[in-house]
Amino acid sequence: MDEVLLRQALEFGKPYTGKGEVASYIPELSKADGRELGICVKTIDGEELHCGYWQRRFTIQSISKAINLAMALEHHGFDAVFLKTNMEPSGASFNAMSRISDSEDIPFNPLVNSGAIAIVELLVPLGLEYMLSAVRGLCGDKYITVDEDVFHSEWSHSARNRSLAYLLQSKGLINGDVDETLRLYTQLCSLSVTAESLANLGQLLANGGVQPETGRRLLKEEVVRTTLTMMLTCGMYDGSGEFAVRVGLPSKSGVGGGILSVVPGEMGIGVYGPSLDRKGNSVAGQKVLEYISRREKLHILDRYAQRTVPTEQN
Ligand code: GLU
Repeated sequence: MDEVLLRQALEFGKPYTGKGEVASYIPELSKADGRELGICVKTIDGEELHCGYWQRRFTIQSISKAINLAMALEHHGFDAVFLKTNMEPSGASFNAMSRISDSEDIPFNPLVNSGAIAIVELLVPLGLEYMLSAVRGLCGDKYITVDEDVFHSEWSHSARNRSLAYLLQSKGLINGDVDETLRLYTQLCSLSVTAESLANLGQLLANGGVQPETGRRLLKEEVVRTTLTMMLTCGMYDGSGEFAVRVGLPSKSGVGGGILSVVPGEMGIGVYGPSLDRKGNSVAGQKVLEYISRREKLHILDRYAQRTVPTEQN
């Protein structure tokens, strides 16, 4: 991959910015410029490529759910985490009430709002400062902070998430203070990142949880494996199936316009494009990733096919 390809991918994606809308259910997010598009790639060998608005700061939103899942797995283990959510794609919108409103069920997966809110309860004892410093480390970006304007904007328009949180409490999936869990969940959605921060995180995940430059392990191998599997099957909400066919990379989107994508064993990719489709995924960002995946044969199943050599007939 080279910068020419990235530029071509961005040119391919640009017309699609006009086919979506910036998020407005969190009023502060409606200030973003939907025409912006940027990408950053970091390979595990330390090569970096970038193009467009790759340094624009935006809020991480739902991409935090992948980090929260990894952190909860690190600190509490697989069984404790998956007592709170299942591991199934929901086929429903990101903030759906379905499934947990049935009498005994639990959220579909950790990457939809209901599952993510349940999991953040496990992170409350760690606290915001600890999480902030962990996210800075995982994203290799010491400038990440809570964007207070976005936080307050979402906090004062959080009726839906609040309803989900109380429903979770009624099912025994939140046992502590609902307000505290919801506050931390919303703060973690309001962390300001760039496409580069996401590419750094992707690079770490692509390298099995070990920082390539330092050789330091930041996440356990099985934590990375579980997180990437959830991203592959559930990371793009009710667009996860089609995205898996078209792009075929573990990815997580956020309504701030970011997409984190991981090419296991090779590279991390961060994309920014705040114009969203109706499912809440960056409309041009998905096109950019599809272009790159096709041109470079990055779809994880394409790569498997490349390794399969025809057998000799006798
Ligand atoms: N903070 C947003 C919410 O909870 C995140 C949604 C998203 O990025 O998809 O509604």
